[in-house]
Amino acid sequence: MSNMQLDTLRRIVQEINASVSLHESLDIMVNQVSEAMQVDVCSIYLFDERNQRYVLMATKGLKAEAVGNVSLPLGEGLVGLVGQREEIVNLHNAPQHERFAYFPETGEELYNSFLGVPVMYRRKVMGVMVVQNQHSQDFSEAAESFLVTLCAQLSGVIAHAQAVGNIDVFRKPNNASAYKTFQGAAGAGGIALGRAIILYPPADLTAVPDREADDISEELTLLDQAIISVRHEIQALDDKMQDSLMADERTLFSVFLRMLDENALPSEIKEIIREGNWAQGAVKRVIDRHVTLFAQMEDDYLRERVADLKDLGRRILAALQRSDPSHKELSSDSILIGEEISTAALVELPVSKIAAIVTSEGAANSHMVIVARALGIPTVVGVTELPINTLDDVELIVDAYQGRVFVNPPRRLRQRYKEIQKEEEQIAKDLKQYESRDAITPDGVAVRLFVNTGLMIDVVRGVQRGAKGVGLYRSEIPFMLRERFPGEEEQRAIYRQQLSHFANKPVVMRTLDIGADKDLPYFEIEEENSALGWRGIRFTLDHPEIFSAQIRAMLKASIGLNNLHILLPMVTSVSEVEEALYLLERDWIAVQEEEEVKITKPKIGIMVEVPSVLLQIEEFSELVDFFSVGSNDLIQYLLAVDRNNPRVSSVYSHFHPSILRVLQRLVKQCHDYDKPISICGEMAGDPLSAVLLMAMGFNTLSMSSSNILRVRKTICHISMQDAQQLLDQVLKLNNPLMIKSWMEYYFKTHGLADMVKSSRLINV
Ligand code: PEP
Ligand code: MG
Repeated sequence: MSNMQLDTLRRIVQEINASVSLHESLDIMVNQVSEAMQVDVCSIYLFDERNQRYVLMATKGLKAEAVGNVSLPLGEGLVGLVGQREEIVNLHNAPQHERFAYFPETGEELYNSFLGVPVMYRRKVMGVMVVQNQHSQDFSEAAESFLVTLCAQLSGVIAHAQAVGNIDVFRKPNNASAYKTFQGAAGAGGIALGRAIILYPPADLTAVPDREADDISEELTLLDQAIISVRHEIQALDDKMQDSLMADERTLFSVFLRMLDENALPSEIKEIIREGNWAQGAVKRVIDRHVTLFAQMEDDYLRERVADLKDLGRRILAALQRSDPSHKELSSDSILIGEEISTAALVELPVSKIAAIVTSEGAANSHMVIVARALGIPTVVGVTELPINTLDDVELIVDAYQGRVFVNPPRRLRQRYKEIQKEEEQIAKDLKQYESRDAITPDGVAVRLFVNTGLMIDVVRGVQRGAKGVGLYRSEIPFMLRERFPGEEEQRAIYRQQLSHFANKPVVMRTLDIGADKDLPYFEIEEENSALGWRGIRFTLDHPEIFSAQIRAMLKASIGLNNLHILLPMVTSVSEVEEALYLLERDWIAVQEEEEVKITKPKIGIMVEVPSVLLQIEEFSELVDFFSVGSNDLIQYLLAVDRNNPRVSSVYSHFHPSILRVLQRLVKQCHDYDKPISICGEMAGDPLSAVLLMAMGFNTLSMSSSNILRVRKTICHISMQDAQQLLDQVLKLNNPLMIKSWMEYYFKTHGLADMVKSSRLINV
């Protein structure tokens, strides 16, 4: 592709990103493409799922009245052909093609050459982009590649814009109260009905929602105050830079000040406030509008001013947010929504008031989801098309079993979900009897169910639900709750609580596992490929002072309790363990000397998360006392699939045959070397996979407290003999989905349907 085409492409994408509605985006597209490609016609047809038709949504060249009125049934006409084949159709004499359909409303008979490209999003045809010319000539390869590149770039934007404007663009444009449904990935299971509250990052223009102003004159006053404050800010910057910048280099400041003149930006913003939007939403709209205008300019200098304009917008927004009196309080039915919600941001909130969480980014095994699961908050992630900004205070139903979000749900659906909530409560009540039972199969095999902890609430729930120990204490969680690294004594007190609640039972404390999606708010690690970067033991060995403080605190906390086990995360090589063992030994001796007390030497284990460990079990067995499988990461690294990326979440599965085979071999190897092995990843807490793990020989499963009772009930109902038969059967299957379905079918036909979380499919 030529540089000029690339420039054009970039500009189009930029403009689309700045547009405010789907219709505007489509219009920009057809206009820009027809100009860039010098074609007589450029049109976009979108697929209307409900009516199974391609609807003409925008055109440059055909009659404007045809937009919204011309549509083709699936599989008809040349547009249908492109959609059906999911590939380019390039014709020099389109009217002669057998599939040519004639629509007098468009004046189409005049055009001979036709190039149609499917707009694909996540393997689905969303629409078709068509360019046409009067003269009869094949379009060049360059033209094809230009359109293909454009459609690939824009498919996501169209999907998003469509969702933001209205999912049902074909019928009720911009109807904010329309009923819509969205699909994401099921995170922490559960159901919630409530109202959305947007958790948006401060001073982020893209994240500001539209919101009806409670009091228009109040919003106008807030804007005036914000403008005054930004003027002072810019004036101060200008003064500060007097000595370091030349006068012409400081012209930007005077441009900013002029833009803040009452009859410039402020008057435009006020116009939108008077129409009913709140000040922050109005600022966003005006800045967006100007950004679009600037982005369209041919002049490079002006185009580059887009960044400055956004900067000015952010400053006004920040000033408004500083004095925002309307900061929403959480109420008990608040459903938190946002692009991405970090673990740290989540645990800072009054979690008892969060009814559910929905995010447009993230995947089911992200750290935030693990914490949400422990807290029992229904969570749906990776809802990529969620129109966050339009959902402030809107009624939602979150079905976190199926990963679905219903916006403005109809009454019938609300009723149905309320009934399901009641059934859920009943299941929870029925499960209560399993709090005091042991996990023993009908043929007498005992499985130890441990709890994964991080917060104190996990400990409390773990004890209440009869956990036989802590299989994984994620020590990074208390680190996330603070504003700095906690000191040794502070840590000792935290660890003591964990150890003493499980006195006489093993507690496996993992050393700090930060990096990748587990950032500390006060120690951000910015890396291009963080999952493969500086995380877990790689970080702590580079910071022996942090590692030692933690080990010393753990050892001191264990005095008199003697139930401490230490687990090393993200181990890749033997040398890392040798180094860690050296530090551990040194600290163990030192702490005993300082405290003048004998401390039982903790058992040391490693997590099996990096595939290299699987091939060196023999060597590691000589160094450590036990192994614990971190299947969340092991799956990520074995299948080469980011556990946080919603685009590839369908590739991430703990039922993948390779995963099951690897785990089966691993257990056998550990038994051969006489080393205990447990598993603490999320698959241990899924009743369907827990049965398979038990059959492989895992006799310790560690899981979120929210899953203990389900897994215990399952184990009490399936004999080891049956479980082994099931394992044999599924290991013959070559496909994760088939394995999962096989297990679901078994559960549903053996009285365990309630243990299958996605079993309550609701047809709406
Ligand atoms: C895992 O990777 O399976 C695990 C238990 O660790 P985490 O989820 O904290 O990375
Ligand atoms: Mg891990």
